[in-house]
Amino acid sequence: MKTETIAIHAGNLTHSTTGDVTPPISLSTTFFRDENGGYPGGHMYSRVSNPNRSALEKVMADLEKGEECCAFSSGNTAGMSVFQALPPGSHIIAPDDMYWGFKKQLLSIFTGILEIDFVDQTQLQTIENHIKSNTAMIWMETPSNPLLKVTDIAAIAAIAKKNQLILACDSTFASPCFQNPILHGADIVMHSSTKYIGGHSDVLGGILVTAVKNEFWDKIRNIQQIGGAVPSPFDCYLLLRSIKTLPYRMRGHAENGMALAQYLADHPKIEAVFYPGLPSHPQHEIAKKQMSAFGGMLSILVKGDAGNARRVVNTVKLFAQATSLGGVESLIEHRASVEGPDTKTPQNLIRVSVGLEHIDDLIADLSAALG
Ligand SMILES: *Cc1c(COP(=O)(O)O)cnc(C)c1O
Repeated sequence: MKTETIAIHAGNLTHSTTGDVTPPISLSTTFFRDENGGYPGGHMYSRVSNPNRSALEKVMADLEKGEECCAFSSGNTAGMSVFQALPPGSHIIAPDDMYWGFKKQLLSIFTGILEIDFVDQTQLQTIENHIKSNTAMIWMETPSNPLLKVTDIAAIAAIAKKNQLILACDSTFASPCFQNPILHGADIVMHSSTKYIGGHSDVLGGILVTAVKNEFWDKIRNIQQIGGAVPSPFDCYLLLRSIKTLPYRMRGHAENGMALAQYLADHPKIEAVFYPGLPSHPQHEIAKKQMSAFGGMLSILVKGDAGNARRVVNTVKLFAQATSLGGVESLIEHRASVEGPDTKTPQNLIRVSVGLEHIDDLIADLSAALG
């Protein structure tokens, strides 16, 4: 089945006796056992599994072309579960432009437990040069946050395979509609479902999908079930509801993203636009190879300094000045001030999450703010 059909039907697992077309929210934390001690409904205790989470995990595994999914209470706990599943002392090759929350986890929670190198993964030779005897995983993020760097999933998968490393890919910016890393050789795909998958800035969640069930995946499932950082049935219900319209929302985000990127690329007050759909993007050819469209995330460098960038985000009216991304409403932020004093993000960088408003209104708002 095609993406639009999977999005609407794959999560409809529960069929209540009342004949609901939309599966109900199953709030029970515990489930009946039969006379042999078994669980006829397939669930025992809602931290381990529950009907709404199973439905979410089914539709996400199908959308990402993987075998199984684990849903978490946030993107950060999804990623952290992957790091926790590695043997202590393992070395990870992480991207230099990495979601800052993960970078922070690796540099604080995992210091002394894991070894990490942050490298420019657009340079394949650099990745190979960093492989050591204790390297266990390559963690990639494409497109990356906030520079929208695109890295070649198939090429990095070949390096991982040759060296028997696990390849995990944070695919949040692409959404499962525009990029399926497993089809290019990744072992694990990660999403912050807080973003496009939820799509309405009202639910926090994280997703991992595995290409195949193996020993490493068993560890992750164990961390999910025993660690317990799981989404509530209501969170799962909201995500399932959102996923039904995800493919159509993504078309709108991509259409508006491309139009805004093209407009800004020619603007005299703009120094640079980072959007993988522009032919001027340094990895545009790789983006075309592994993505079916380029999403609604873009970053711009405003001519001038941090003051100029902050003036723009303070002047727009339609764009909400707020962090996060992937919702129906457009968001804008001065990224360096979110990431703090240690950040390497350029001071004149503005990150934009292009929403689903009419493109003419978005362009008019940004154009007035740029002056
Ligand atoms: C938001 C985000 C995360 C973290 O997800 P949360 O749901 O906020 O915990 C990870 N990676 C990327 C690319 C993100 O944008």
